[in-house]
Amino acid sequence: MNVYFDNAATTPLDPEVLDAMLPFLQNHFGNPSSIHGHGRQVRAAIENARKTIAHLINAAPAEIVFTSCGTEADNYAAFGSVPTLGLTHGITSKLEHHAVLHTMQALEKQGMELSYLRHDAQGRLDLAHLEELLATHPRTFVSLMHANNEIGNLNDIVAIGDICAQHNAVFHTDTVQTMGHYKHDVQQLKANFLVGSAHKFHGPKGIGFLYRRSGQTVNALIHGGSQERNQRAGTENVYGIVGLAKSLEIAYRGMAEHQQHIQGLKDRFMAKLRAEIEGVEFNGTSAESDQSLYTVLSVSLPPSDLNEMLLFNLDINHISCSGGSACTSGANAGSHVLNALGCDPNRGTIRFSMSKYNTAEEVDYAVVQLAKMYRREPLKV
Ligand code: PLP
Repeated sequence: MNVYFDNAATTPLDPEVLDAMLPFLQNHFGNPSSIHGHGRQVRAAIENARKTIAHLINAAPAEIVFTSCGTEADNYAAFGSVPTLGLTHGITSKLEHHAVLHTMQALEKQGMELSYLRHDAQGRLDLAHLEELLATHPRTFVSLMHANNEIGNLNDIVAIGDICAQHNAVFHTDTVQTMGHYKHDVQQLKANFLVGSAHKFHGPKGIGFLYRRSGQTVNALIHGGSQERNQRAGTENVYGIVGLAKSLEIAYRGMAEHQQHIQGLKDRFMAKLRAEIEGVEFNGTSAESDQSLYTVLSVSLPPSDLNEMLLFNLDINHISCSGGSACTSGANAGSHVLNALGCDPNRGTIRFSMSKYNTAEEVDYAVVQLAKMYRREPLKV
């Protein structure tokens, strides 16, 4: 069996998405900025994609700006608004993805005061602290993610948005791990910025978008031509944009069914691990379904000399998963999130992240292989 449990790092392309993209790789090659027929045809595809995405998150098409990835969208929101609006203070948390954390720290180096929101040992954010910080800092940019990519914690972005709105703070939420997995409605949510990245929901790599609330001032990050209404220069990644819209459309179409299927796999994983491995625990709020992203299970394994070889041993049994986040190359010691939670460095951590393509048999196989390791049975199957 060859099993892929690293869907928080990236997901396989849905064949229907590839079908939608192929004409723009093979035939429709015009530059969308050209005014002739070849260009106009491609421009129409981009604008249709923008309308599709806007419709799905209940936004206006002009509020969607295409970017090269989620990281760029995070940078664009922060660097595009903090200096432009004269915001002197930023709030984030030590549990954010580096796309946000390092961006906020770069702004701090440029003079912005930076505060880190307190959280408990499970990573639950302290919203009373948010209120306190906002009450004393009138010009603030708040960046707090919807779901954590390593431990799967879900933050209450509705409540955070309400608090930010009460204090006139600009609120950016990194929704990279939840876009395509939950329904976002920007009319209900008081956020100024949301982010999507197609490769996290069975779309292509190298394409993302920023939702930017209408009326929200933000300066371009990349300068040059007048693409994206002067907000993001450079010839558009047309087949990426088409694939992004198609993958989000498919994600919304099958969302309820996939959520049920994947949550079922996660519950099975937890039950089987508890039965097979004594002392197993789950990081963050992973085990609480109403506070955790259904696609991510962060497993904390009891101290053992085997832990250092955990990922390697799973890999030789054809199971791909991650130690924390792919962005830290799977090294547990390198996980700033687990460190911020104060996790015991002697315990092993594995992140299993699932998609609609995973099956119960794959879960059972992974648990059997892991349990064999702890029983020190021969590894190779
Ligand atoms: N934010 C979060 C929470 C992520 O999980 C990731 C990718 O893992 C990113 C941002 C970066 O997205 P991209 O790979 O599209 O740059």
